[in-house]
Amino acid sequence: MLPKLNIVPFVSVDNMMKLILAIGVERFLIELAGFIEADFRRWELFDKTPRVASHSKEGVIELMPTSDGAVYGFKYVNGHPKNTRDGRQTVTAFGVLANVSNGYPLLLSEMTILTALRTAATSALAAKYLAPSSARTMALIGNGAQAEFQALAFKALVGVNRLRLYDIDRSASLKCVRNLAGLGFDFEICATAEEALVGAEIVTTVTADKRYATILTDNMVGAGIHINAVGGDSPGKTELHADILRRSDIFVEYPPQTRIEGEIQQLPPDYPVTELWQVVAGEAPGRRDAGQITLFDSVGFAIEDFSALRYVREQIERTRLYDELDLLADPDEPRDLFGMLLRAQAAQPAA
Ligand code: NAD
Repeated sequence: MLPKLNIVPFVSVDNMMKLILAIGVERFLIELAGFIEADFRRWELFDKTPRVASHSKEGVIELMPTSDGAVYGFKYVNGHPKNTRDGRQTVTAFGVLANVSNGYPLLLSEMTILTALRTAATSALAAKYLAPSSARTMALIGNGAQAEFQALAFKALVGVNRLRLYDIDRSASLKCVRNLAGLGFDFEICATAEEALVGAEIVTTVTADKRYATILTDNMVGAGIHINAVGGDSPGKTELHADILRRSDIFVEYPPQTRIEGEIQQLPPDYPVTELWQVVAGEAPGRRDAGQITLFDSVGFAIEDFSALRYVREQIERTRLYDELDLLADPDEPRDLFGMLLRAQAAQPAA
């Protein structure tokens, strides 16, 4: 029988959670990082554009499209740092994959949880190439929705097993410790960001504040550290003092987007940076020496979401963890769209 053309596989939040739990969070992160790594190796064949952002006083709504020529994908995502005050997430998302040859959607999926996983997988993938290989201790600053995913990705891909946590809201750090208990970490909850950095070989900043914040100042950053800067991802929303950037070797996803949104918005527009995909593909060096400060200026790029959706699509074909969504009109005769409406009317029971 021919597949029904109107049906699109839909991965709800419920099915996404079932899928992640069936695979296991750490295995999911490792396999997802593998998909991102594979797509970074074929970076040049993708359609690329900085994301389309609609800014407001409270936050941003963004569309993130890309295509590898066979499959097209996009993500809808918001960033509203004040949302948590009225019980909403700072970041929510959903995404689509579609067939380039006929334009029909192949998948519609929740991406709020998937974004946390893909952001963490990308961060840990970057650290695999940029952090000191002996790094086991990470300062994790900002202990909100993304934090546990970051911690687990760094454990699974880099071998981090000691976390030094700091958040302006101590209850967020306590939540992290509770959620990660028994998963192979030693924890220290710190009273300041400066204290969190003591003895850390990696620092992840993943705070949410819509301003030029200074989560790290220059004096806090010692030689040899790897900085994974995740929370500065929008114009006017950064986490690091500009002096740190000038002492670091800076790695970014897609420069035309990062120069608008990342930490490097604080630097001149031609300031030299290395594209992470070039390091992954062996075309540029990652960490070169023990004293080098490496900075992954993460903002989140469309290809990572494409990789994540591609990974989920493979997994749901195997597990069948999806619903069938009646998303597309599919008249018996393609040009008779109005006739389809008339037949639906005729089929309605008489009032
Ligand atoms: P969240 O609101 O759930 O958590 C943010 C945490 O940061 C809160 O616990 C808050 O108390 C803490 N915080 C705020 N200011 C702080 C400060 N000065 N020092 C220490 N802690 C502070 O948000 P989330 O979903 O975890 O997202 C965190 C950030 O990551 C957001 O800015 C978001 O836009 C960004 N993000 C980036 C990517 C990417 O790909 N780069 C992806 C997802 C989210």
